[in-house]
Amino acid sequence: MNFEELNLAPAIVQAVREQGYETPTPIQREAIPAVLSGRDLLAGAQTGTGKTAAFTLPLLQRLSQGERATSRFGGVGVRALVLTPTRELAAQVEESVRTYGKHLSLNSTVVFGGVGMNPQINALKKGVDVLVATPGRLLDLQDQGFLDLSAVQVLVLDEADRMLDMGFIHDVKKVLALLPRDKQSLLFSATFSDDIRELANSLLRDPQSIQV
Ligand code: AMP
Repeated sequence: MNFEELNLAPAIVQAVREQGYETPTPIQREAIPAVLSGRDLLAGAQTGTGKTAAFTLPLLQRLSQGERATSRFGGVGVRALVLTPTRELAAQVEESVRTYGKHLSLNSTVVFGGVGMNPQINALKKGVDVLVATPGRLLDLQDQGFLDLSAVQVLVLDEADRMLDMGFIHDVKKVLALLPRDKQSLLFSATFSDDIRELANSLLRDPQSIQV
């Protein structure tokens, strides 16, 4: 199997080729069709399995085929939100979004704590299709009125188990409450505790389950 057979757009296949990937990994083979079909997803996958591309490639494809959203600030509105537990992972995921989306015209940015807020506020004001964020900084930006999440169509919780281990469950629930009910949600986790299952049950609707 190759990336074309997964029905990915030529612009995305080209970006993947430029990374030197020949064949999709097992999680990519299963997750890409599910995400393209619009279904919710519950994926058990460790780091190193290619999970980032497994959600980023179909997410970019869906956004590139859809209409741009307008935020209440007048610019491009956030259509995809990826939550990660750490700033390092957030930065890495956003870099992947840029890499795989380089032949598409979508904007992305990353926000996380521990650094100044002003550059992040300016990036949000310019308009963002894909926002990658850690939960705490996202809520700070929301509280200060710099965020409009009302047009989010796709939510990804990456490394959800680490997010809970780090004590972010309340922040995650606050973020979920800001999002439209009608959206596609993808939850990635390396392990499945009762807390993760409870979060998955409250968030996901008829999800496809994948374990690699
Ligand atoms: P991840 O599990 O998302 O952290 O990805 C682990 C590593 O695998 C990253 O360095 C990716 O660049 C690489 N990778 C992802 N998908 C593929 C693929 N289909 N073929 C080869 N390498 C890949």
